[in-house]
Amino acid sequence: MIKKLFIYLPILLLIFIVQCNSANSDQSQTNPVLLISIDGFMNEYIDRNETPNFDRFIAGGVYAEYLIPVFPTKTFPTHWSIVTGLYTENHGIISNSFYDYELDARFSFGPPPESPNDERWWGGEPIWITAEKQGKTATTFFWPGSEATIDGVQSTRWIDYDGSVPNIERIDSVMAWLDPAGEIQADFSTLYFSFVDSRGHSYGPNSPEVDDAVQEMDELLGYILDQADEIGMSNQLNIILVSDHGMAELSDDKVIFLDEIIDLEVVDMVDWTPVAMIKPDEGKTSEIYEALKANEEHYSVYLREELPERFYFTNHYRIPEIIMIADVGYTITSRPFYEDRGIMRGNHGYDNQAPEMHTFFAAKGPDFKQNEIVPAFESIHIYELMANLLNLDPAPNDGNPDELLHLLRD
Ligand code: AMP
Ligand code: ZN
Ligand code: ZN
Repeated sequence: MIKKLFIYLPILLLIFIVQCNSANSDQSQTNPVLLISIDGFMNEYIDRNETPNFDRFIAGGVYAEYLIPVFPTKTFPTHWSIVTGLYTENHGIISNSFYDYELDARFSFGPPPESPNDERWWGGEPIWITAEKQGKTATTFFWPGSEATIDGVQSTRWIDYDGSVPNIERIDSVMAWLDPAGEIQADFSTLYFSFVDSRGHSYGPNSPEVDDAVQEMDELLGYILDQADEIGMSNQLNIILVSDHGMAELSDDKVIFLDEIIDLEVVDMVDWTPVAMIKPDEGKTSEIYEALKANEEHYSVYLREELPERFYFTNHYRIPEIIMIADVGYTITSRPFYEDRGIMRGNHGYDNQAPEMHTFFAAKGPDFKQNEIVPAFESIHIYELMANLLNLDPAPNDGNPDELLHLLRD
């Protein structure tokens, strides 16, 4: 009996180990997904420029009439919604910079060590964490929130944000991660480019400087497609090209001086422009709200509970009592700040229904239809789309799993 046990025990142990491993490792074969964000990129940018690589990409895949970002249309909330499928009130990244009175800390996206890596900021589960948890290999070469752990998990490769890393270097690294002959053979990766957005802020969306940036982006897209070819992935890789919001032209005759409407001494400004998020001192809410309502010109002011439901911007403790949304093109500031710093030439953050805030979506790869233009859709559905492509069980989210099935081949 003992002798038999000696023979069988190692075999049983082996079966046990194999089973444990297979529970953790992914058994399903799916085509890898590369999610690329071009910050602040509008559809009209490709309509008014020569963009042979965008044209080639779109003809070979699907292109949305436009993409509807979440509110407010700022970089951090919008990017986090794309990768979690959650509306802003359900993920809690209410702007690029805001104060949390429970954590008693300011969220702001300054360079490391200031960048907000603490996972208490980030609600929801981004797609790279869903992938890692289910045995896939996920990587990120920049994405807002990609530096944070979520449930203690991080992607297999991620990089602390550094805007000075050359774009080509970002692409080369990601291609090495995706390479089927490479070390990690990633199933998912992100890429992120900020320069089109930066030009839009500095020179305005209708400037020749933005057009130059668009040409540059077109060349980078050509490089990405060539490199995918180089690693033998041009027929295997699903590439999703997306942007987070549009860009509106600003001007000095469209400025709202908040200090001339309310007493800034009795409020905390959670955020400023183009969506002012105002937390009045104890007992001051009605007074401040009434003053803003009485002067409601070139903006709309709401008590938090009165915000139209379509903003999905009420049910989070970080959202303060009063929300003031500037009309597109207007800037909310104070007289001293304006005298000192002036305003940018372009900005975003406005109502996500405004055409100027609408943005870009195109996708191409073995699982996508070809040469197909689809109607506009909301960015919160992209998480479910990616979970579907990677055969993942999605975390709870606001997207609809059926919403984007018409983008895929049968
Ligand atoms: P915005 O001010 O909304 O136009 O934000 C765009 C800027 O966000 C970019 O120019 C970058 O400087 C910054 N940014 C983008 N991704 C990250 C990141 N992962 N960490 C820190 N900053 C970032
Ligand atoms: Zn942005
Ligand atoms: Zn921007």
